[in-house]
Amino acid sequence: MKGSNAFCPTTGASLSEELHYDDRGRAERVPIDDDSPPDVEPTGELTNGERCSSATALVVHFRRSRNASGPADESIDRAAALAIRRLKRAGGGEAVWDVVVWYALAERLRRAGHDVEWMGSHAEWRCPVCYGHLRFHPVGDGVIARCVTDCRGDPSDRGERIWNAIAARYTAAFDDAVVAETLRERWW
Ligand SMILES: [Zn+2]
Repeated sequence: MKGSNAFCPTTGASLSEELHYDDRGRAERVPIDDDSPPDVEPTGELTNGERCSSATALVVHFRRSRNASGPADESIDRAAALAIRRLKRAGGGEAVWDVVVWYALAERLRRAGHDVEWMGSHAEWRCPVCYGHLRFHPVGDGVIARCVTDCRGDPSDRGERIWNAIAARYTAAFDDAVVAETLRERWW
């Protein structure tokens, strides 16, 4: 992931607050092992996080976020690790954004009886077209999400595309039906 939840896309290690500059002058951060699980060995690569991270990195992000939100729970960690690997392999294993994996994972764990409310604070929504930030506008009982840069001159709701991608990935991984609109109402 990028943004406030960014982590190393290879290992899942946290990133330094301090910025480092690469040979083209771009500011990036380095992986650190502050609050990562003890078996995570940060690499020296400079990164600001990626939209699509490795399954290993997502498993580490899950454990770290869950540790920050409540007591240790090995059963949910094991279930999450398995589900993340299935979600990454689904649909021929093509690259899928971390936020899509994250909310499909939340649904899988919720259906297994786990508390997943906390997961909503550990992934960031982005425009599915340009990866820019989204702005949420209340409409009726819910919200619609517009791209802040109005990319492609199109102010339409980006939520439909996002939640359809999450539902499609869930169904491909677990061979189980889920309705995009139901997921959306649960989280938005
Ligand atoms: Zn956009």
